[in-house]
Amino acid sequence: MIQRVETFAVAPRWLFVRIETHDGVVGWGEASLEGNTAPVRALVTQYADLLIGADETRIADLWLTTTRAGFYRGGPVMGSAVAGIDQALWDIAGKRVGLPVHRLLGGAVRDRIRVYSWIGGDAPSHVAEAAEAQMAAGMTAVKMNASAQLSPLPSRSEVSQIHQRVAAVRRTIGEDHDIAVDLHGRATIMAAQQIAAALEELNPMFIEEPVEPHHQFRLADLRTTIPIATGERLYNKEEFLGVLTGGVGVVQPDLAHAGGISEVIRIAALADCFGAAVAPHCPLGPIALAACLQVGFATSNHLIQEQSIGIHYNTTGEVLDYVADTAPLQFVRGHIERWEAPGLGIQIDESAVREADRHAPNWITPLWRHADGSFAEW
Ligand SMILES: [Mg+2]
Repeated sequence: MIQRVETFAVAPRWLFVRIETHDGVVGWGEASLEGNTAPVRALVTQYADLLIGADETRIADLWLTTTRAGFYRGGPVMGSAVAGIDQALWDIAGKRVGLPVHRLLGGAVRDRIRVYSWIGGDAPSHVAEAAEAQMAAGMTAVKMNASAQLSPLPSRSEVSQIHQRVAAVRRTIGEDHDIAVDLHGRATIMAAQQIAAALEELNPMFIEEPVEPHHQFRLADLRTTIPIATGERLYNKEEFLGVLTGGVGVVQPDLAHAGGISEVIRIAALADCFGAAVAPHCPLGPIALAACLQVGFATSNHLIQEQSIGIHYNTTGEVLDYVADTAPLQFVRGHIERWEAPGLGIQIDESAVREADRHAPNWITPLWRHADGSFAEW
């Protein structure tokens, strides 16, 4: 029976959920919604009324009651609050029987998961040097932003600069390694079409979020041989159905935004019906990453895993700051090896989390503007 539900805001911009049962089993989940910690935290606290006293093994029923019983549904705040609770309940379920979550999901279909690292930051520069460093560290794939803010109809020079940066990385990493290019929802469909045409000769692994979520119904009009990836701002399987019918090749649900492990395994199965692969979004903390990996170990159409260990922009807190044993999260030739520890399989450093919650920074999503002063997508 669930006895206690707690939340912890921690640097750099994450929210952890801790659920404890009446007999002392503790599960951790991650409900990070960067820049929106307060509303997610409030909703988890509200859900505690439904959770306390409930049977923690009824994960599916608790998922339904939290997402449906409030009458209003959907969106990132609810998706993230539910995700944090759902992960914690799966963690408890695994710990209760001494098995890793991937064994509860049907067992392992792979022994290790390929991961990729970010290079270049929000406004990419010096990407070739950064790619070289990642290759030297054993990575086999990198991802970069195509550009900073993009004009609605980009000039030839804007498109050419994107091409030059991606070409520099391709020259550095060679043909045996992969590069993914994230447009971060900064492009209009017209701009995305021009950029995709320019990048085709460089064979990116995929182009990510070519348009912002409200324009995803236009994805079917994008003509390119490069696989299209999207999904970090989609929050349930119904939203993924739309992009899959639009021809997306790689779906990127975020385990901390899209209803947790329970919903993401349904999204993965839905993608499988379309012959699409899953590459979960995760520039987040260790619990979200562990949840991604548990799903990946048990999911046949899992492609590759994003992660942000050691990333340059996390200056106030880091993925490994909150785990008591960093060994499971070590990279081995660009992969993370499968774990057999129970639950999510990582040990949270509870005292570090409680301490971090006392002075968590209030991370604010950057506000960008075009040269004429108008709003620009970040
Ligand atoms: Mg992205």
